[in-house]
Amino acid sequence: MSFTVEERGNPNTLSYRLFFKNADGKYVSPFHDIPMYADESQNIFHVVVEVPRWTNAKMEIATKDPLNPIKQDVKKGNLRYVANVFPHKGYIWNYGAIPQTWEDPGHKDEDTDCCGDNDPIDVCEIGTKVCSRGEVIKVKVLGVLAMIDEGETDWKVIAINVEDPEAKDLNNIGDIQRLKPGYLEATVDWFRKYKVPDGKPENQFAFNGEFKDKEFAIETIKSTHGFWKALISQKTNSGGLNCKNTCVSAGDSPFCCSTDEAKAVIEGTTPCGTEDPIPCSVDKWFYYEKE
Ligand SMILES: [Mg+2]
Repeated sequence: MSFTVEERGNPNTLSYRLFFKNADGKYVSPFHDIPMYADESQNIFHVVVEVPRWTNAKMEIATKDPLNPIKQDVKKGNLRYVANVFPHKGYIWNYGAIPQTWEDPGHKDEDTDCCGDNDPIDVCEIGTKVCSRGEVIKVKVLGVLAMIDEGETDWKVIAINVEDPEAKDLNNIGDIQRLKPGYLEATVDWFRKYKVPDGKPENQFAFNGEFKDKEFAIETIKSTHGFWKALISQKTNSGGLNCKNTCVSAGDSPFCCSTDEAKAVIEGTTPCGTEDPIPCSVDKWFYYEKE
């Protein structure tokens, strides 16, 4: 199964959008139409890469826009870039989301005692390749971190691209500690502090900031897939999310639309244009005392 992307608008501006097409050239929603599993029998999942490693632009699947293109998050009218907290530069993994999952804000998790953040489940992909924005990769799940962001559950799945040369040697959290020493500690440090430069408090974690294993991670992903199924079939309140899709069978989703309707969505956006520069303030490094 392969997917391509189509850019719209002007890069590094508010108008920028990245739409998805399947192998038949049909527009699809990366939230709803890309299957969660790449291979269910092997527990291989699809991940939509939103932010390539070492970049700062907070690009994300626009869950409230029709066909859910990737666009840059906006705060107070400005494009959002994550700050570099020393010694990190941008995101330290390829960062993205598993399609057909949803952290239901109406469901309180037993372990974190917090409700979901209203987004698809997040993934940190730790392979060597720097992926491209909008790339759809197949991953092996290795574990999960339970972040609590301003009172919301925000799971961070740790995974590796199945095409990575080391993928066969990485099968659980312990293998990351052994083969990539320091990476898990850096991951917790990154999530704890990344909003501090914006004047926000440090993020908190359930389980004392410890990673849960592969089995726990897979069960967590499966439960978010169940919440998504209820969402796409209109069995739960969509709370402002846009569920328009082109491939979920109409029997399973009242939100399935025609090819022409999908085309009209893209035609209603700004055509591809010239890019703006990324502001040099994004390169600033922030330093904090170790606690
Ligand atoms: Mg999230």
